[in-house]
Amino acid sequence: MTVEEQKKFARTHADLTYHTIEARCRVCGKPLTVEIADIYPELGDPLKAVPMATCNRCADLRNRRIETEERLRRICHHILNQPKSKRTEVATRYAKPIEDRVRDWIKVANQTNGSAVEFDEAMVESILKDPVKYGEVLGRISGLAKKPRPAPQPSLPYKDA
Ligand SMILES: [Zn+2]
Repeated sequence: MTVEEQKKFARTHADLTYHTIEARCRVCGKPLTVEIADIYPELGDPLKAVPMATCNRCADLRNRRIETEERLRRICHHILNQPKSKRTEVATRYAKPIEDRVRDWIKVANQTNGSAVEFDEAMVESILKDPVKYGEVLGRISGLAKKPRPAPQPSLPYKDA
């Protein structure tokens, strides 16, 4: 929920009380609190929501990852939609935007993992050579960045009140 949505929700649900649950970010393991409205148990199992909790930083990184992949995907599909005879020429024109997206991806991967993967021309060359493989290239970069193990969820103090 965005801050705006939260405010709107608070206005339209002013009579709700909330339970604060200690949880951990499912990505980085940072402790965080989850506020669950007391109507939630009627809507579904609130304990299912807690393991999905993500801290703001990880949520932001995730959004940037999705956005970067989507932008690269669009470029690659545009190239792939060209007649075969024109693809190499068109791909060459997109070398710079592709490089920018790859650099974005590396930045996010490094911020996510505290790693220091460096840009390599070969990453862009692989995509230019075969745009269908952009996902593999991104996957290899993610593999190079160390992946943190998801933290185990603490036992949950939630009770029906
Ligand atoms: Zn996190």
